[in-house]
Amino acid sequence: MNTSRAKALGAIIGIPVLVIAFTVAWAKNPPDLAHLFSAPTVCEKPLTYAIGSIDGRFGVGVVTLQEAVTAAEKLWENGTGFDLLSRDDNASLKINLVFDERQIKTIEEARFKAKLDQEHTLYQGLVAQYDTLVAVQEKRLDEYNASGALYDKRLTNYNTQVTHWNSAGGAPEKVYNEFAKERSDLERLQQELENERQELNQQNANINALTDKINMYASTFNKSVDSYNTTFTEEQFEQGQYTGTMINVFQFDDLSDLEIVLAHEFGHAFGIDHLSNPTAIMYYLMEKQDTERPELTAEDVAALRGVCRMENSTSRND
Ligand SMILES: [Zn+2]
Repeated sequence: MNTSRAKALGAIIGIPVLVIAFTVAWAKNPPDLAHLFSAPTVCEKPLTYAIGSIDGRFGVGVVTLQEAVTAAEKLWENGTGFDLLSRDDNASLKINLVFDERQIKTIEEARFKAKLDQEHTLYQGLVAQYDTLVAVQEKRLDEYNASGALYDKRLTNYNTQVTHWNSAGGAPEKVYNEFAKERSDLERLQQELENERQELNQQNANINALTDKINMYASTFNKSVDSYNTTFTEEQFEQGQYTGTMINVFQFDDLSDLEIVLAHEFGHAFGIDHLSNPTAIMYYLMEKQDTERPELTAEDVAALRGVCRMENSTSRND
C-alpha cells in the first residue's frame, strides 16, 4: 500500500511539473509564434487614423489639426518612400487634443512673453529717444560754449578800448557811437546767451526726467524677467502619448511643434521605440529637433525599416 500509495503520489506530483515545463517552453519561443501570426507591417498596409476629440481651449479646429497630421504623415512618407498613414473616420486609432494644466501653462507663458516683449519695446523706444535728445543737446551745448567764448572775447576787447579812451579823457563822437553800437550788440548777445542757457538747463532737466523714466522701465522689465524665470522654469513633461488606440496630444507651442509631436507618436504607432540620437523624431525628448524644417534622421528611417522587417535596415535606399 505504502508502495503503491507512494507510486500513486509520485504520478500526481508529476503532472504539475510537466505542465510548468510546457508553459516555460512556450514563453521561451515567442518569435516563432509572432512569425506565424504576424499582421502586415505598416509598410505593407497603411495605418488608418481618425480625428478624435479636440478640446476647444487649444484654439485649433479640425482643419488645422488635419493639416498638422498631414505634415507629420508627409514627414514619414517622404522620408521613407512608403505610404504609411491614411485617414479613415471609422479607424480605431483616434487623434485627440487633450487640454490640461500643461497647455494652460503654455498659454500663460506665451502671454507673459508677449508682455515682456512689449515692455522691452517700450524701454528700447525710450532709450532711442534719450540718445537722440542727448546728441542734439551736446551739439547745442558746444555751440553755446563757442558763442560764449566769442562773447567773452568781444567784451574783453570792448572793456579794454573803453578803459583806453577813458584814460585819454574821452573818445571822439564817431568812436563813441561805435562803442554805443558795440555795447548794445553785446547786451543783445548776452541776453541771447542767457536765453539759450535757460533753455539748455530746461532740456537737461527733461533729459534727467527721461533718464529716471528709463531706469524705472528697466527696473520693471528686470522684475518681470525675474518673475518669468521663476514661474516658467525648465521642466520635463509628457507632450503626447500613444496608448495603442489613441494618440493624445497635451501640449504644443505652435503648429510646427504639434507636427513633430504627432510625427513622434505616429512613430510609436508604427511600432518604433525611442532612439538615442537627440535630433531624431523618435528621441524621447523634444529639444534638438529642427522644428522649423523637421526631417527624419537616418536612425528614424532605419527604425521604420526595422519594424517593416526589411533587410539593410540602416539604409534608406532599397
Ligand atoms: Zn515617445
